[in-house]
Amino acid sequence: MGSKGKKAVGRRAVLLGGGAAVVGTAVLAREELARAWWRLPGTRRKRVEGELDHAGAEWTSASRANWRRADRPDDYTIDRIVIHVVQGSYATALRVFKNPGHGAAAHYVVRKDGHVAQMIRELDVGFHAGNRDMNERSIGIEHEGFVDRPKDFTAAMYEGSARLAAGICARYGIPVDREHIIGHVEVEGTDHTDPGPHWDWDRYLRLVREASKKPA
Ligand SMILES: [Zn+2]
Repeated sequence: MGSKGKKAVGRRAVLLGGGAAVVGTAVLAREELARAWWRLPGTRRKRVEGELDHAGAEWTSASRANWRRADRPDDYTIDRIVIHVVQGSYATALRVFKNPGHGAAAHYVVRKDGHVAQMIRELDVGFHAGNRDMNERSIGIEHEGFVDRPKDFTAAMYEGSARLAAGICARYGIPVDREHIIGHVEVEGTDHTDPGPHWDWDRYLRLVREASKKPA
C-alpha cells in the first residue's frame, strides 16, 4: 500500500481508499480462461488451510477477492519481493486485506515487534503492486507504520522482515539485491510512494544477507 503524495495526511483514508487497482470479476474470469488452455487437470497443488510458507508466521487468510489462485513458481517465475508500508497499523492491514471490497492484499504483514502474518500462499498471486506483471512475479511484504514516521521502522521489524525475505530468496533463488528486492514506489506505473524515504535499504539488504547465511 502506501501514500499518494500529500494525501498521506489523511492516513486512514489513504489506506482504505488507496491500495492496488481493483480487479473486476469479469477481468478475473477472462484471465482464468486464458490461462486454462495449457493446464492439465490435477496440476493444481492441494492447499491446506493454515499451511505456511514462512515458518513461524501466523496464518490469517486474506479475502479470496484480494488474490488470484496460481501455481507459482511453475506457472510464473517468482523473482521479485515488493516492500510496502501499510500507512496504518498491523491490525488495520489485516482488517482491510480480509475485506473483499478492498481489492488488494499482500502475502505478508510484519508487525513492529517482528511478528509476521501470512495472509496469502506464495504460490498464489496477491494483488499488492497495482501492476499485473509485478503481482504475478512477486511476493508482497507489508510493514506496519507510516512512511513519514521513521520511528515506526523498528529494529525488530527490520529483522523479522529480513528473515522472511531471506527465506523467500532461498526458496526461489532470488538474488539479494536492489534489483530484485524493490519498493512499491519502484513498480512501473505506480502512484504509491511506499516504503518512503525513511526505509533504510542498506540496513535491510545487509540484514537479509546476514539472515541468508544462517540456517533456517
Ligand atoms: Zn504499497
